[in-house]
Amino acid sequence: MKKKNVFNLSPTAWQAFMREWQEPAYRSNQIIAAAWNPKIADFSLATSLPKNLREKLNVTFFIPRPLVPVKKQISEDKTVKALFILEDKSSIESVAIPKDNRLTFCLSTQVGCAMGCSFCATAQLGLKRHLSSAEIIAQIRSLIALLGQQPTNLVFMGMGEPLQNLNAVRSCLEIITHPKAMNWSPHKSIISTCGWVPGIEAITTAPLKAKLALSLNAVNNTLRNKLMPINRRFPLEKVLPAIQKYSQATGEQVSIEYLLLHGVNDRLEDAACLGRLLKNYNVKINIIPYNPVAGLAFKPPTEKSLAAFLHELRKSRILITLRTSRGKTIGAACGQLAGQKIRKTV
Ligand code: SF4
Repeated sequence: MKKKNVFNLSPTAWQAFMREWQEPAYRSNQIIAAAWNPKIADFSLATSLPKNLREKLNVTFFIPRPLVPVKKQISEDKTVKALFILEDKSSIESVAIPKDNRLTFCLSTQVGCAMGCSFCATAQLGLKRHLSSAEIIAQIRSLIALLGQQPTNLVFMGMGEPLQNLNAVRSCLEIITHPKAMNWSPHKSIISTCGWVPGIEAITTAPLKAKLALSLNAVNNTLRNKLMPINRRFPLEKVLPAIQKYSQATGEQVSIEYLLLHGVNDRLEDAACLGRLLKNYNVKINIIPYNPVAGLAFKPPTEKSLAAFLHELRKSRILITLRTSRGKTIGAACGQLAGQKIRKTV
């Protein structure tokens, strides 16, 4: 029998196991604490547990070691991009972004992506497969081991559409927020969606332990259809009400990500329209100047067009943040992650 990775079991799944094994419920907390103890490589070392349970756990489960990246790149601004090879030889990238007192880990949720956004390097891979919760958690543990530092924030904005892999993302968040695991605050994670409405509806009904961001990038369906093919299936008339319902049901503000592409969506009328479009929503807007991707024709905004866009958008009185891109020089910024294979071909 193939042993199971402990980080694929949510706290609820451990409790079910304990019931099945006729163990007291509190054992699940002890098991989670042992799995997250860096000094415990296997359950034989988990001395808080009775010997017979340790043996049983060791037969059924394994505690994976952090992954060692096959490639590590560090940019001028100290952003670190790590390339990890998974058990089936799939490659994924994760990024650690230091800024002031923060250290943000940007995590991948799929190998490749099916969403086909025209400005994104990951889209060129297509979707290979979903990541498991253990593979998402492996990125966190491996970056911690690599840097010797805990993150202050987690963003699920790497390779893949997180809401298309909702079960694994949910399980990952349930695990890391558990007091005996990382005791991670739900306010310190952001899930970014390109507008996968079934996923937004699902987390409206059963909220995730994370905040939500919508990657919008266009103020009309004609342009959004071109930039983000998902819009043909879920146009603005569907995605924006879904965001509003989510916000009303959870009481949470949603971040709107707007990638500025020169000559495409950075005109003054785009800024004015963006303000009008979102004026009745509980949102804040993050403006992200585009990072060039080799082989793609898009360009970042000029300083002048960026300043004019922000000036116009500020008239809407919506909270606006300008995100300065980090890790550009190593292809680690937004939309630049593509794993090893694509990098060789573009
Ligand atoms: S931007 Fe995000 S959703 Fe769109 S193709 Fe890239 S990884 Fe997928």
